[in-house]
Amino acid sequence: MTDTTAFDYTLRISPRARVVRLCVSPHRGLEIVVPRWFNRRQLPEVLHEKSAWIERALERVRPQREELLAAAPWQLPDRIQFRAVDLEWEVRARATSARRLSINYHRPGLIDIQGPVEDEALSRHLLGRFLVVQAELHLPRLLAALSRATGLSYRRASIRRQRSRWGSCSAQGAISLNAALLFLPCHLTRYVLVHELCHTVHLNHSNRFWSLVEKHCPDYRTAEREMRDARDYVPRWANSEQAIAPLA
Ligand SMILES: [Zn+2]
Repeated sequence: MTDTTAFDYTLRISPRARVVRLCVSPHRGLEIVVPRWFNRRQLPEVLHEKSAWIERALERVRPQREELLAAAPWQLPDRIQFRAVDLEWEVRARATSARRLSINYHRPGLIDIQGPVEDEALSRHLLGRFLVVQAELHLPRLLAALSRATGLSYRRASIRRQRSRWGSCSAQGAISLNAALLFLPCHLTRYVLVHELCHTVHLNHSNRFWSLVEKHCPDYRTAEREMRDARDYVPRWANSEQAIAPLA
């Protein structure tokens, strides 16, 4: 028996795609391109149906893929996209003999990184700091705007990383937000923020809590469903070892 979920794949949502497409390449391995309307719960079925084809295709590219992976274990991303706030940067990396990495993003749309760019730990650390700085810049502002729009007040907001949650709210009304929310499409980030704001009124997932969520986010059921796979939006460089659990 084949365990169809055993395939390692990347999922790409394409507004132009009409049907589900499977691509296997040495560079990307298995890539699944789906139309926007695609229900991800159908994925296991698709993978199961095509498992023989996928196995053959993966087997064919395996030697080349292993070679590529061994030769290029770490690479800075080409671009960084914060869907939540509609910002995108091209990343230009320059390897120099400097001992430290430096980052410059004063020009709009462009990030310059210099130094030992082949060093994965240093690079991840640098990009992680960039992510937090950007999250601190944008997410509290987004939360404040939603708080005004909904009339739900909170005491303070903080940004976290390497946490197992997208967001949380304390009994004192302190809201913590995961910096990786920047990678999510804006309707999902908005949903998480509204969800946490509603916890300032109901610190549970009671029916009254959900009716309050529904009042401010009528489409919350769809958003809740999409949040199950929201981890897919987070690029590999920003992944912590921990998986992110559903909303708290
Ligand atoms: Zn919750």
